[in-house]
Amino acid sequence: MKHYDAVVIGAGVLGCFAARSLCRWKLSTLLLEGAGDVCTGITRANTAIIYPGYDNRPGSRKARMTVRANAAFPRLCEELEVPYKRCGSLMLSYGPAGDRVLGQKLAQGRENGVSDLQLISGQQAEELEPGLKKGISSALYAPGTGTVNPWQLGIAACENAVKNGCELRLNSPVTAIGRQGKDYIVETAGECFSCAVVINCAGLSADKVQELLFPPRIRIFPDGADYLVLDKNVPAPRHILFHETEEKGKGLTAVPTVEGSLLLGPSRRPLTEPYAVEQKGIEELKAQAAKLLPGLNMDMMIRSFGAVRPKPQMMELRAGEYVPTGRDLGDFPMDRPEPGFFSLIGVKTPGLTCAEELGQYLAAQAAEYLDAEPNPDFDPRRAAIPRPAALPFAERKALVEAEPNYGEVLCLCEDVSRGEIMEAIRRGAVDVEGVKRRTGAGLGRCQGGRCRLLIEALLEEYRHGKL
Ligand SMILES: Cc1cc2nc3c(=O)[nH]c(=O)nc-3n(C[C@H](O)[C@H](O)[C@H](O)COP(=O)(O)OP(=O)(O)OC[C@H]3O[C@@H](n4cnc5c(N)ncnc54)[C@H](O)[C@@H]3O)c2cc1C
Repeated sequence: MKHYDAVVIGAGVLGCFAARSLCRWKLSTLLLEGAGDVCTGITRANTAIIYPGYDNRPGSRKARMTVRANAAFPRLCEELEVPYKRCGSLMLSYGPAGDRVLGQKLAQGRENGVSDLQLISGQQAEELEPGLKKGISSALYAPGTGTVNPWQLGIAACENAVKNGCELRLNSPVTAIGRQGKDYIVETAGECFSCAVVINCAGLSADKVQELLFPPRIRIFPDGADYLVLDKNVPAPRHILFHETEEKGKGLTAVPTVEGSLLLGPSRRPLTEPYAVEQKGIEELKAQAAKLLPGLNMDMMIRSFGAVRPKPQMMELRAGEYVPTGRDLGDFPMDRPEPGFFSLIGVKTPGLTCAEELGQYLAAQAAEYLDAEPNPDFDPRRAAIPRPAALPFAERKALVEAEPNYGEVLCLCEDVSRGEIMEAIRRGAVDVEGVKRRTGAGLGRCQGGRCRLLIEALLEEYRHGKL
């Protein structure tokens, strides 16, 4: 049985960053993922916002981590060569209840150390975003809010972890966890590993993974959500918009994504089938969008998707049975049931923003427990797949001369070349969705109608060792 210092369970954005951060220490690390690819869970369906930190309770770990993470995001995205847009956000109010909320957020943000927040007038907000419904009473302007592609960030962190020596095993759902002396024994469908530290980042299943060895302390009760995406040709707002309606929880969030499309959502509803879309949710979003951005052409909608919110609750033993206490967890839910076992159970927003912070926190805890030394050879840089469409002409020409596949465009909507798709497959994409997540091919107006078969053919060639 192979032994590792640390085993990370789950390769969503949090597991990938935990694995990457462990590589900053002299520790042997294994990352186990149940699915055939990384970042296919909550990480692929969220709002993609890098929050500045005014939403969190002062003094909480969430508040501290969010403010630090937001400041570090340009450096992180530069290291990992992931596109990042610091577009700023406007939280908009149209009445006294909303104005009060904005005032509270301003005070909270300042207490948390978000120094560049400004409360601006409706007229100023309309000047910044001319497409907004008139009659804004006030707006909270946060220049530091940004957006990133969540799955590209997670994939980049995973590639960087592997480059720094972390082993990755896909199609390896953890089915049992035991103890042998001080070590943990982690079992997948076909193999067994021993390790001194387990870091459980199994997303929606993190509670079940912990319960393979420990009694339930936190359990996830998921909710559903819907999103819709408008084509990049729609005249989109320049800032991320949050509509603070007079009726709490009924407002829209609009995100001009790094790809140039406009993301609207999420709706709020009970969960039916994980990641399925509900038409009612989409209709709600369209109605909210019509209220906030009346000129938006909803015929430009190209896609919708469903998401799952992992609402964690504390459990307690009553009359011999574990029951939910009804108490939601305000801060990031971290559990350490025994020395060497660390769980993130049901990390909600802003988990994406804080992925690196959470990873570094967990790795530091593991390093302290194992008395590990820093790894002087750790290299934080990861090279992205070349993107000819984003290059100046001379660089594009040189790239195509060196590798002609970068000159043949297969995805016409998003301008993605054969070379990018081939590289994505070589880096681990196992299906059309994996290629889409790595290159953007199929994300555009025709939703892969024209390139899907060509990508499938390349995947088939790779499976036969021809790529
Ligand atoms: C609707 C919504 C919107 C959000 N919006 C934002 C936002 O705008 N900004 C922000 O900062 N945060 C946001 N978040 C939070 C953020 O998206 C999450 O915190 C983050 O994506 C969680 O990642 P994860 O790695 O925990 O989970 P996942 O991405 O789900 O990864 C868990 C992985 O574990 C694997 N796994 C499960 N069981 C096993 C097993 N037994 N063995 C091996 N592997 C297993 C799964 O296959 C999966 O790949 C949002 C969350 C939601 C739900």
